[in-house]
Amino acid sequence: IKNRAAPGIFLPRLVASMEEIEETYIMVKPDGVQRGLVGEIISRFEKKGFKLTGLKLFQCPKELAEEHYKDLQSKPFFPKLIDYITSGPVVCMAWEGVGIVASARKLIGSTNPLQAEPGTIRGDLAVQTGRNIVHGSDSPENGKREIALWFKEGEVCEWTPALAPWLRE
Ligand code: ADP
Repeated sequence: IKNRAAPGIFLPRLVASMEEIEETYIMVKPDGVQRGLVGEIISRFEKKGFKLTGLKLFQCPKELAEEHYKDLQSKPFFPKLIDYITSGPVVCMAWEGVGIVASARKLIGSTNPLQAEPGTIRGDLAVQTGRNIVHGSDSPENGKREIALWFKEGEVCEWTPALAPWLRE
């Protein structure tokens, strides 16, 4: 801790950033939809206590898949990845919660399902990187970017879950 002389200044800042509500874009990929895992995947996030703010079944056009995965453009698997994501409908979801981006990535598990821990979505339900059934944003910035990319104005709902006081003090 750098600021030893003034812990009162240092500490509240740290706490405030930990309490910040984040948004994340979660998507059941076409293999998850085909395998009938939509309910199971939504359930994991619902049961955890996060708030669903957007949900739709959607056939993704090629241009949108390319924009979503633009950071992977130079990878050899990019064309196959675009074919995979556009091969059937996906389920698009917006979720929000304190610390949700990192927590959702933990619930989803490693990119390679064979390396994903048991108990995670990929660890329990998938066997190959090219069929890893679910996507989750990797940063709060990408969470916002991806929700804006996949949802139109008015498709994301602001609401207060009745159980909120039973989930966070
Ligand atoms: P994550 O989805 O876990 O954030 P990445 O951002 O690294 O992982 O990759 C995005 C997606 O690209 C993966 O979920 C997977 O569908 C696909 N992908 C990544 N690496 C490979 C690979 N080596 N071969 C085939 N597909 C891959």
